[in-house]
Parts: sequence; structure tokens; C-alpha cells
Amino acid sequence: MLDERLLGILACPGCKGELDYRTDPKEVLICHSCSLVYEIRDDIPIMLVEEAKPLEKE
Ligand SMILES: [Zn+2]
Repeated sequence: MLDERLLGILACPGCKGELDYRTDPKEVLICHSCSLVYEIRDDIPIMLVEEAKPLEKE
């Protein structure tokens, strides 16, 4: 799990907006403005637009 303090300072690299932290089905950070999903690997968020996946509509 990510540290809450770390979550507080993380922002989307694309729009500098807030990120939505999800843990189900896996840990990811979602930017709803950019519709991008940032993966978390080994407790390290991959904060790169090039590495982000498009957000699938729910
Ligand atoms: Zn964004």
C-alpha cells in the first residue's frame, strides 16, 4: 500500500491534477481529467504519461 503522505503530494504529470487511488483489482492511480491510469509497481507509482494506460469506461 502507498503511504498516505506520498499520495498527498502526488499529482498527475499531465494536468497536475489530483489522482484517485484504487486498490481493486490492483493498485493504480487514476486521473479522471486525462482518463489515464498510472500503474504502481513494487510500491512505486509510475508517474509518466507515456507509461500510463487509457482509462476504460466503467
Ligand atoms: Zn491528468
